[in-house]
Amino acid sequence: MGEANAERGENALIRRLEALLGGRGVSVPFGDDMAELLSGPPPLLGTVDTITDGVDFLSAEHAWRDIGYKAMAVNVSDCAAMAVRPEAALIAVVLDNRLSMDDAMALLAGIKECADAFGCALAGGDTNSWDQPTAISITIVGRPEPGQAPVRRDGARPGDLIFVSGPCGGSLLERHLHPRPRVELALALNRRLAPRAMIDISDGVAIDLSRVCAASGCGAVLAAERVEAAIHDDARRRAAKTGQPALEHMLHDGEDFELIVVLPTDVDRAACSELGLLPLGRMVTGRGLRLERAGRDVGEIAPRGWEHFQ
Ligand SMILES: [Mg+2]
Repeated sequence: MGEANAERGENALIRRLEALLGGRGVSVPFGDDMAELLSGPPPLLGTVDTITDGVDFLSAEHAWRDIGYKAMAVNVSDCAAMAVRPEAALIAVVLDNRLSMDDAMALLAGIKECADAFGCALAGGDTNSWDQPTAISITIVGRPEPGQAPVRRDGARPGDLIFVSGPCGGSLLERHLHPRPRVELALALNRRLAPRAMIDISDGVAIDLSRVCAASGCGAVLAAERVEAAIHDDARRRAAKTGQPALEHMLHDGEDFELIVVLPTDVDRAACSELGLLPLGRMVTGRGLRLERAGRDVGEIAPRGWEHFQ
């Protein structure tokens, strides 16, 4: 195997980009859900995400309106991850020449539907075309609420409690096409409970939690009983088809676009349940994710999930 292939994967690429670009003196470290563009108060943050036909979506199977909605929603979810309100978006599309004008308009209508639902202005953009699959790139800028700081993923500490904002798993059955990013919940959490760390679940509970662990320099222990109580009905339906345990689907399916929320141990538990948070476990010293049942360690949780550039 050549040296060029010695280390691939999206995480490896991001590490190399960080070495090249990181450390320019902003307060949000490289690699979080959004980048800080201007320091505050309140700071201005931005996020960009590009999706490509045949990789991130399948235009042969899905309606262009749904594809547009989802392209916008995944970016809005990154705003939720940091308790940032999305304020304006720039859209760049490179359309496959085979698309009809109606297809292109349906794509943009889907983007607008999602932008309107979250009060985000479509500020401008750029369109191109070529004889290759369609690519859609969306940039969103936004700010936390006045007086609030963005919630980063590197603030978790051993002993902190791990919650999820709703049941997870099985989104592939249908939910993944029309995600409902948790912006309002994230803003309420930031206002009321001052989370130590948050991330949105795009690639899977286990892999996204492992990103919080890596950024924060700690590990996590999840209680199987709690994980089971946070299994989405769709995960059970999928499990019946795949033969995998529903717990596996809960931990690894991805595209739930719920939030993983890390809170200090002395957090107001009544407020947590009022806000619909489901407890999963706790942060610990060390590395990696482990599962326990009845208080006893039952093994490692592999942080597997979707990763580009393999
Ligand atoms: Mg994210």
